[in-house]
Amino acid sequence: LGDKLTGALRRLQTTTVVNDDVLNDLLQDVCRALVESDVNIKVVATLRKGIKEKVNLADAPAGLNRRKMVQRAVMEELVRLVDSGTKPYQMKKGKSNVIMFVGLQGSGKTTTIAKYANYYQRKGWKTCMVCADTFRAGAFDQLKQNATKLRVPFYGSYTEADPVRIAEEGVQQFRSEGYEVIIVDTSGRHKQEEALFEEMKEIQAAVRPDNVVYVMDATQGQAVFDQAQGFHQAATVGSVIVTKLDGHAKGGGALSAVAATGAPIIFLGSGEHFDDLDVFNPGSFISRLLGLGDMRGFLEEVSSLGAREGGKERQEAMAQRLVKGQFTLRDMYEQFENVMKLGPLSKVMGMLPGFPSFLMGGGEGGRGGQDEAATGRLKRFLTMMDSMTDAELDGKVDLNKSESRVNRIARGSGAHPMEVQFLLKTYAQFSQMFKKMGPMMLKGGEGGIQR
Ligand code: GDP
Ligand code: MG
Repeated sequence: LGDKLTGALRRLQTTTVVNDDVLNDLLQDVCRALVESDVNIKVVATLRKGIKEKVNLADAPAGLNRRKMVQRAVMEELVRLVDSGTKPYQMKKGKSNVIMFVGLQGSGKTTTIAKYANYYQRKGWKTCMVCADTFRAGAFDQLKQNATKLRVPFYGSYTEADPVRIAEEGVQQFRSEGYEVIIVDTSGRHKQEEALFEEMKEIQAAVRPDNVVYVMDATQGQAVFDQAQGFHQAATVGSVIVTKLDGHAKGGGALSAVAATGAPIIFLGSGEHFDDLDVFNPGSFISRLLGLGDMRGFLEEVSSLGAREGGKERQEAMAQRLVKGQFTLRDMYEQFENVMKLGPLSKVMGMLPGFPSFLMGGGEGGRGGQDEAATGRLKRFLTMMDSMTDAELDGKVDLNKSESRVNRIARGSGAHPMEVQFLLKTYAQFSQMFKKMGPMMLKGGEGGIQR
């Protein structure tokens, strides 16, 4: 399906006439992809309606860029689905921020707390944990082990059976010691659900948390709405974290959690290690929901890319051309497309020796932000190349010598002529690099862009 949607998006990029048919095809593919990713049907219907209302092709004045209008409407409505518009809680330096975690047993609370503690501790916050899960046997040991590995102070008890009391005492002690991030772990199961929600209510009243984080597992599909609402009524959820995104689940249920609580998604969990926590990024989450790129598993992707149908021959043909110094813009187009399919660019870059470093960087907020910026840049390049003719892509004309062609490409892709020139410069750099690497690729040695 991802391929189908990619096709619909490409069609939108390349078609000369953007009409209702193009729009309807695109909407159909977008909606189907979302439903397959566990997004609630009602939510999908609202999205479709929202886009349709925003895009009025019949009344669009002549000369208006219809393509842009459709793209913007689709993106804006998609972002609205994952972004409640509420600002996430901001930790306050030099103050005790009490963060209470809630969620069903097995959703990944205790694991996520360790990741969360690691994240803030590394940033220099004085961090600690309190174990208020007295229901699950071994809960305290699990938290204690994580805390010990991370060298984060913890509080809990093997004998005290009252979780409210432990939470209260632990938080009080750490507050008095001036800890800045005090994380409270809770139970996710009870003999009866009512009792669980009652317990959350009591713990919240006892520790007065600054933020309550609802943890949900990406596989939890449609059932999430009621559950998130239950926790929200008990303890006023302020943030959502989705775990287990390293598996097959796309995590569309998260949209139901956002809808039920009005709280923003802040982090995504993608593994069992302390580092497997990514700051939430609407763009990449959406592309994941749409099946436009698998965020993980790209290692397997790389090794299988060459084996794809026709891929091997195409690559060999390309390698042959490379040796002769005939790397074309079309080759670059294909390379960029492949790279974007692989997932987080920061990781892919490490595997592509010689990838111009200026394509990376420039983003904010660490790895996630950088990926966003780099992906955005590649996408713009692809859009500009979509406005080129076959002769231009295949290097039959020298674009550096034709200002009118550059201007035409710029107009066709909504870019500034200088951006097109930057693209040509990038292409020249790639060309250089491939001239050097071509022979190595032919021998199947290290250092090729694809193995
Ligand atoms: P809790 O009951 O909510 O505290 O959940 P735990 O933190 O004990 O996690 C339950 C199970 O899920 C454990 O086996 C964790 O290792 C696993 N887990 C938690 N987060 C992730 C994740 O992001 N990815 C994967 N693959 N497993 C996870
Ligand atoms: Mg736990």
